[in-house]
Amino acid sequence: MLRVAVIGGGPAGFMAAAAARESAGGGVEVEVLDAGVPLATILRTGGGRCNLANAIADPRELSRRYPRGGAFLLPCFTRFGSAEARGWFTARGLPLVEEDEGRVFPRSGRADDVRAVLEEEARGLGVRVHAREPVTDVRRAGAGFTVATPRGAREFDRVVIATGGDWRDRPGSGYRLARGLGHAVTPLAPSLTGLVAEDRWVGGLAGLTLRGAAATARFQGREAARETGDLLFTHDGVSGPLAFKISARCAFLEVSRGSPILLGLSLAPGGGREEAEARLRAAIAERQKGRVLTALASLAPRSLAEAMLGLAGIDPELPCSQLTREGRRGLSRLLESLPITIVDRVRGGEMVSAGGVALAQVDHRTMGSRLVPGLFFCGEVLDVDGFTGGFNLQAAWTTGRIAGLAAGA
Ligand SMILES: Cc1cc2nc3c(=O)[nH]c(=O)nc-3n(C[C@H](O)[C@H](O)[C@H](O)COP(=O)(O)OP(=O)(O)OC[C@H]3O[C@@H](n4cnc5c(N)ncnc54)[C@H](O)[C@@H]3O)c2cc1C
Repeated sequence: MLRVAVIGGGPAGFMAAAAARESAGGGVEVEVLDAGVPLATILRTGGGRCNLANAIADPRELSRRYPRGGAFLLPCFTRFGSAEARGWFTARGLPLVEEDEGRVFPRSGRADDVRAVLEEEARGLGVRVHAREPVTDVRRAGAGFTVATPRGAREFDRVVIATGGDWRDRPGSGYRLARGLGHAVTPLAPSLTGLVAEDRWVGGLAGLTLRGAAATARFQGREAARETGDLLFTHDGVSGPLAFKISARCAFLEVSRGSPILLGLSLAPGGGREEAEARLRAAIAERQKGRVLTALASLAPRSLAEAMLGLAGIDPELPCSQLTREGRRGLSRLLESLPITIVDRVRGGEMVSAGGVALAQVDHRTMGSRLVPGLFFCGEVLDVDGFTGGFNLQAAWTTGRIAGLAAGA
């Protein structure tokens, strides 16, 4: 009887455990060892609704949503991609719905239903799940492994490391287990965070959402990111999908007050200065007797228009007819690229860890280690991370499924 240990009972670990049993039927014993409460992470996802996948079915398109690991995932998505992951859940009685930007949720709106499907699947397949049993060490022992927990050491033929992300790399992290087995771990950093802005006017707009905004991020004179998405203004900066994308692209930049990320937010749909100038001219021409604020508020939300006039030093009450050429140019510049100075990330709010087990040492066909036979990795412990929108759980399902099928074979 083949004995498989899955270290980490998160989404990737449960998917791997189920696949291992499925691939080998009765010929394999699968145990999941979790440091805490298995599948607890699922409950926090998608604001308690669990955005478990994205409707983007084309593997190439899907792989572009990963700032790190997209090329590694591409062939994996052709085997178990978005359609397969969604099909896996619906086949187990979980109806799904698609929302904006292709985000897929359980129709019930309850992350707990996703947890229940995974738990039921594992139970039905005879997977043994151990809660509150942190793995402290994994060693090679002959052709197999000795897995140590505070309850003692046990022997397994194969080990799947599915311990998730922990960019602080605290004692007990899966990265430490991987290093102990000879694997390299790339530098780690928090990703998918809100961004802290220095500019006081930003906080004044707290609660405002800009739909489908575009932004470029520059760091030390170089473009670091160019992304689109919804942007939410908060008391201390910006958040929402666009800010998360920027945070992911800039995850490894050492941002500070002395070395900020300069965000340029475009309010001109075409993006260019001429386009911004033309739209502003038209808005002003239509309202010669009106106020500049009214003209600008036809191009941007009113509270933002007020903030822009403040930045340009223009009285909001000024009649359009009195706006100077210089004033108009200043406003056009702001419409084209409204500067926001990012000096920090929101601490503790990160959703994933960037960096992880080096992909060059992992075979994408099996998720097997290229260094240690019988060792597999899946989920966020790998050097793979995606944008928000269901992409991180998708990576967990994909890599978990592939790792489990190979570990159980
Ligand atoms: C607030 C929040 C919201 C999110 N929302 C979404 C979303 O809607 N959609 C999406 O796609 N992604 C979302 N994510 C990201 C997503 O949750 C993760 O990418 C995903 O859970 C990773 O799965 P995993 O199984 O690799 O790791 P995890 O879910 O982190 O699970 C790892 C498990 O391993 C256990 N473990 C760790 N070390 C050990 C050890 N030494 N021994 C034994 N057990 C160990 C942990 O207790 C844990 O249960 C969100 C993340 C957060 C924080």
